[in-house]
Amino acid sequence: MFEKILIANRGEIALRIHRACREMGIHTVAVHSEADAKAMHVRLADEAVCIGPSRSSDSYLNKSAIISAALSTGADAIHPGFGFLSENADFAEMVESHGITFIGPTAAQMRKMGDKITARQAAIEAGLPVTPGSPSLDTLEDAKTWAQKIGYPIIIKAKDGGGGKGMKIAFSETDIEEAYTMARAEAKAAFPSDVVYMEKYLQNPRHIEIQILADKYGNVVHLGERDCSIQRNNQKLIEESPSPALNQSQREEIGEIVRKAIAKIGYFNAGTLEFLFEDGKFYFLEMNTRLQVEHPVTEAVSDIDIVREQIRIASGAALGYEQKDIEFNGHAIECRINAENPETFTPCPGTITEWHAPGGLGVRVDSEIYSGYSIPPFYDSMIAKLIVHGKTRNSALMRLRRALEEFVIDGVSTTIPLQQEIISQAEFIDGMYNIHWLEEYMRKRNQNS
Ligand code: ADP
Repeated sequence: MFEKILIANRGEIALRIHRACREMGIHTVAVHSEADAKAMHVRLADEAVCIGPSRSSDSYLNKSAIISAALSTGADAIHPGFGFLSENADFAEMVESHGITFIGPTAAQMRKMGDKITARQAAIEAGLPVTPGSPSLDTLEDAKTWAQKIGYPIIIKAKDGGGGKGMKIAFSETDIEEAYTMARAEAKAAFPSDVVYMEKYLQNPRHIEIQILADKYGNVVHLGERDCSIQRNNQKLIEESPSPALNQSQREEIGEIVRKAIAKIGYFNAGTLEFLFEDGKFYFLEMNTRLQVEHPVTEAVSDIDIVREQIRIASGAALGYEQKDIEFNGHAIECRINAENPETFTPCPGTITEWHAPGGLGVRVDSEIYSGYSIPPFYDSMIAKLIVHGKTRNSALMRLRRALEEFVIDGVSTTIPLQQEIISQAEFIDGMYNIHWLEEYMRKRNQNS
């Protein structure tokens, strides 16, 4: 087992990884930007290294600064968390070439599954259902031809896309030129490549994803699904497991398909396969070759510490259990609490004047925040994750309502009022929502006010 792990991230996820390391008796090294010198992950880690100025490109994305920090502190592994360098195959390769273990899949697995076009191809070969789609689209003419073939509406996506960026919908031939040009321009600005492709646009799907764990010896398990259909701007706001939309046989069927596909692909460590689910059918969207923000809902229902498993797998340990050994219990729901205006979703960084997190049975709060903490304006606006677990969906919902009521965050606006509103709507209570529900709900309610 590793003796010292460098955590190449910040915020709540850096803390989350630190906690897993601590419980495994592993020393931790925090890295931080100048803006994060007082952050909780820095305070709690055994050692801390400043890796550069506040902008991410100068610090959390600075590969050589992070590797130097690992070498100078004698870390034997690096956990990348999510975002930043977590899906950067060049970084994984650099880490390994310095004799340090990258906690995640290999660079080659990441390249194959991190690129949406090659991942679609691998998914098809491994027997996963996908939406009808195109190869890369080099010209507008290509886009028009493929749109005809697939049938409108279509969605144009960046091959390296993420965070809901670089996706444009065309409902008919009139929209295609704009969608194609805009998607390429957005991709060029946000991602390493401006290569785009096209998929059939599903009108009313749910977003359902399957968490997997796989070791280096071909053992694969799935940890059930997460329903992440409550979204705005294609970004998740509330997640739950199990999904209220699936019955037991659909759940077991997709879990088994995914397990077999992962074994065939030969992928290891933790990963998530995202699907759209419409009219009883699944369509593979993409694979995330890393830990996900919403992993705690799965931890709550499976009682498996996913970060601990990532570390064990990277160290060469075998899973040591099979699918039949995994039991799912109860229902879990997560709210991503962002320091944002809950109506416009504009980030509002600032100083937290008062902070009181909820507690009690079945309540987990993952956050780096403390009273007096100043949220720097340079990074993501998520400041906390609230996860509740109950025996049934209804008890989880009651608990979530109670926990949101208890939360005190003063000094900045947060998404909490919106989340309180969402969970009291009949459609949410009945589990009858799809990926468009939140935006439609807000539009209607603003029209009526
Ligand atoms: P990203 O990597 O940017 O998160 P994804 O491919 O995972 O992009 O898609 C994010 C979200 O965009 C999905 O959860 C869904 O809401 C929407 N979306 C993506 N592809 C489609 C599609 N083919 N049809 C309908 N909605 C889609």
